[in-house]
Amino acid sequence: MRKVLVLEDEANIRSFVVINLKRSGYEPIEAATGLEALERMKENPDIKVALLDIMLPDIDGFEVCRQIRASNPRIGIIMLTARTQEMDKVMGLMTGADDYVTKPFSPAELTARVDALCRRLGEFGDPEPGDLVQGPFRLNTQSRSLEKDGERIRLTQVEYSIMKLFMENPGKALTREDILNSVWGRDYLGELKIVDVNIRRLRIKIEDDPTSPAYITTVWGVGYKWRA
Ligand code: CA
Repeated sequence: MRKVLVLEDEANIRSFVVINLKRSGYEPIEAATGLEALERMKENPDIKVALLDIMLPDIDGFEVCRQIRASNPRIGIIMLTARTQEMDKVMGLMTGADDYVTKPFSPAELTARVDALCRRLGEFGDPEPGDLVQGPFRLNTQSRSLEKDGERIRLTQVEYSIMKLFMENPGKALTREDILNSVWGRDYLGELKIVDVNIRRLRIKIEDDPTSPAYITTVWGVGYKWRA
């Protein structure tokens, strides 16, 4: 069964999430504090997706996310945000997260997002053979990793999928919708903004000067274009 970490300090929200994940065939692993979540991660290295609340009694969800991501590039991470939180601030701090869901959410919405993330993480598909090589970049589709000038760049699975889409479509302007549909799936219920958040992070990782991107260029009024 696919394990999902549920980090939420409010017991009633946590049990609501847990019940619904169980109903959808997942095995929830519960944590009420940030430190407890990190413990559960160590005990269960096969956790596929982590749901992380942000406001917690000890360390906040962003710090938990950073620590999980530092040791596990493959896991899917969804942040549980509150409507009262300022989204721009949340976006800026969401380093390493793949998605976010705003509270209050319906059980159907949450499980749909977990399902979509699991699919994206390649649970149901095998990696394809062959490398994509362009300019200084080599994308290894077998190990799902990226090198620039022979140096390994650590990518999340979502970032990898965006890179693959770019490298398969060099010189082509892709709209945010194209990227969202290809990487997140057509059934994704979230906002287009998630594309920009991931692109911004990807630029920091791969560009020589992220403030003046040369590889992932902005096409005003359209979206983004890859050139290498
Ligand atoms: Ca909380």
